[in-house]
Amino acid sequence: MYDVCIIGAGVVGAAIARELAKFKLKICLLEKSEDVANGTTKANSGIVHGGYADKPGSVKAKFSGAGNRMFPKLEAELHFGFRQIGSLLLAFSDAEVQEIHKIYANGQKNNISGLEIVDSAFLRKNEPNLNLEAKAALLCKVAGVTSPYEFGIALAENAILNGVELKLSCEVIAIKKELDHFLVTTKLNDLPNHDHIKAQRVINAAGLFSDDVARMLGIKNFTINPKQGQYLLFDKDQGGLVNRVIFQVPTPNSKGVLVTPTYHGNLLVGPDATSAPEKEYLDTADQNLKFVTEMAKKSVPNFEMRKVITSFAGNRATPSTGDFIVEESEVKGFINVAGIESPGLTAAPAIAVAVCEIMRESGMTLLPNEKFNPERKPYKTIANMSAEELEELIKKEPAYGRVVCRCETVSEGEILDALQRSIPINSLDAIKRRTRAGMGRCQSGFCTPKIMEIICNATSVSMDKITKKGSGSKLLMGRSKKALQ
Ligand SMILES: Cc1cc2nc3c(=O)[nH]c(=O)nc-3n(C[C@H](O)[C@H](O)[C@H](O)COP(=O)(O)OP(=O)(O)OC[C@H]3O[C@@H](n4cnc5c(N)ncnc54)[C@H](O)[C@@H]3O)c2cc1C
Repeated sequence: MYDVCIIGAGVVGAAIARELAKFKLKICLLEKSEDVANGTTKANSGIVHGGYADKPGSVKAKFSGAGNRMFPKLEAELHFGFRQIGSLLLAFSDAEVQEIHKIYANGQKNNISGLEIVDSAFLRKNEPNLNLEAKAALLCKVAGVTSPYEFGIALAENAILNGVELKLSCEVIAIKKELDHFLVTTKLNDLPNHDHIKAQRVINAAGLFSDDVARMLGIKNFTINPKQGQYLLFDKDQGGLVNRVIFQVPTPNSKGVLVTPTYHGNLLVGPDATSAPEKEYLDTADQNLKFVTEMAKKSVPNFEMRKVITSFAGNRATPSTGDFIVEESEVKGFINVAGIESPGLTAAPAIAVAVCEIMRESGMTLLPNEKFNPERKPYKTIANMSAEELEELIKKEPAYGRVVCRCETVSEGEILDALQRSIPINSLDAIKRRTRAGMGRCQSGFCTPKIMEIICNATSVSMDKITKKGSGSKLLMGRSKKALQ
């Protein structure tokens, strides 16, 4: 019997798992995908928002500013990648200047620090590549950029270190309320048999599928409508075009498109917002990317289109209620953490703290776990090391001297480190999200065979079982000589 069963290991479920691990509880974290942080958490803007834009009094406003304030400490403990570079919300007309003053006042109501209206002279001096027609901007000094999937992975790794049991490829297909506990039925990917988990409390952090999970207990007071956003990612030599996150003032027709350096120094432009035909539909389309490009050029006219290295899409879990849902549901002991669209990445750590409070209010005894260790071991990233540091490391661990991904300078040592950590992985994308091998301009064209060989040698996974991104994405179909016979 678990005290708590968390459904969904995105950034929200992982943050809740880590926060609850601060107490003496038996916790399991169930994830249907083959890796954590593999849903919306892996494909978004990666912005730690200031929290100035959310409607005062809303659940979003309650958690976004509070979440933002937690990031510096979380980064010091977990080393997932966060830089507080600040953001600028650009105004191009007098009407938009008025609008940013209103948004500034909104930010004051939300108790957001570090807000300032800056003029065009400031913009020219500090952001020389912006469109010169920008008249003013709302500067938010506390906004930043993070690596969203690395944040989710770091939270999950630390939760596991502190006793949380992670079950991957484990889809919840039914939930039943028994007299004094829940019976959660799960299905392991590709296997016909079912398993059952008993838990005192269930937390629904299933992202885009949180309405489907709630329906398993007959809870029908919200639906999730997937809203897609598409992006273009540019090579690192474009990342320096702007120093801060550049937003546009929302209009009735568009929320605007952002231009930002990513945590790792690429340039990211996007997203748009269109209704997605299915919850996991992630195709990009020419017309959307054209729209994103044109909108972004309004802020930063001179990025080079031939420097695009990839495009991608993410789907927001937009709730029918218009706000985050963080509450014990009508079924006692079943807590919905649903509809966590943007700025859910920012809000996740604060939501996790609130969930602990909800558990306490629902009658659960929360005794401190004195053994809780907030620290997670950082990766030894050779791309960031001095020649002397690297030489020292290679003397001790020669695998760090064998570069596998030439675009991002990732060594065999880093890949082995990823493979030896607490979350079992065997896909190229899982390696990519942890080490950046395959993330560069060749998009894994060169390093794929080498990474497969390393996975194969370091784990019990045979070459033909290695996938690009889990079930249904096999890389090798069989021996080519055999196929020719
Ligand atoms: C285009 C876009 C841009 C965004 N930009 C930002 C931003 O810049 N800043 C910001 O703060 N936020 C941003 N967000 C929002 C942020 O990405 C999300 O709020 C956050 O990732 C949500 O995390 P989650 O854990 O709720 O969902 P997810 O990451 O989707 O995790 C839910 C998990 O539940 C699992 N699951 C589902 N059903 C089941 C089941 N039956 N059994 C087991 N597991 C299940 C899924 O596989 C998934 O891994 C953006 C979102 C989008 C789409």
